[in-house]
Amino acid sequence: MSASTIVPWVIGNWKMNPTLSSIQEWTEQFGQCLQQAAISEEQCHIAVAPTFIALSKVQADFSLYSRKVHAVAQDVSRFEGTGAFTGEVSATLLKDSQINHVLIGHSERRELLADDTDVLRQKLTNALQTGLTAVFCVGESLEQREQGVAEQVVLQQICDIASVVSDTQWESQIIIAYEPIWAIGTGKTASAQDAQAMHAKIREGLKQLTSSGDKIAILYGGSVKPENAEELATCADINGALVGGASLKADSFYKIAQAFAQAK
Ligand code: PEP
Repeated sequence: MSASTIVPWVIGNWKMNPTLSSIQEWTEQFGQCLQQAAISEEQCHIAVAPTFIALSKVQADFSLYSRKVHAVAQDVSRFEGTGAFTGEVSATLLKDSQINHVLIGHSERRELLADDTDVLRQKLTNALQTGLTAVFCVGESLEQREQGVAEQVVLQQICDIASVVSDTQWESQIIIAYEPIWAIGTGKTASAQDAQAMHAKIREGLKQLTSSGDKIAILYGGSVKPENAEELATCADINGALVGGASLKADSFYKIAQAFAQAK
């Protein structure tokens, strides 16, 4: 397998949205889009990350589709197993609810919720040991980009987790999402060239850490929408997208998935 033969992933990050009734509408609309023009699982993996309280509903709704659409957790506790940790949801409990994927290291959690390197390592260790696949998010701030240290920052964020990821886990349980912070929710997207350049650097970095470097999906995130998805999808090292705002509209999210399915 080479980077160009990786089946892309298109993952919607719903963050602290939407209400249950809006989810109902979304899943119906998305189901209709898939019925009108199917996207096969060989063309593109599709997933959505709702809030914890909506995971079961989303799972149940998605089970009515003719293809797999994964329900992904937006976070996982740094504490493992079960016990007296009010408000927390462990990797064990996610797995127990048949949730197999989790976002870890999203910039909003790093910046607003004190997810530092140690916490992220604990979360990742628990997720991987429990058999979850982690979508590990990395990305630089605008200030870091302007200082010319974007690459260094992003590669360091990946090196930070190397001590807790085994070679087999890199191959089968890690997806990387490159999300420049200045492009998240701002309407500003990295140009396809800039995104590809960073993805190529990430790929090189991964190859130094693991013999599976060519097999790891590297997703781009940051104001991805139907209008820019096609160009991003044609880039050699962009193996999918992590989509925030545009994933809240079923038809926009479908079009993004279609762009990646058709380009790869
Ligand atoms: C995100 O938060 O993961 C994201 C990429 O958001 P948006 O698409 O809205 O920029």
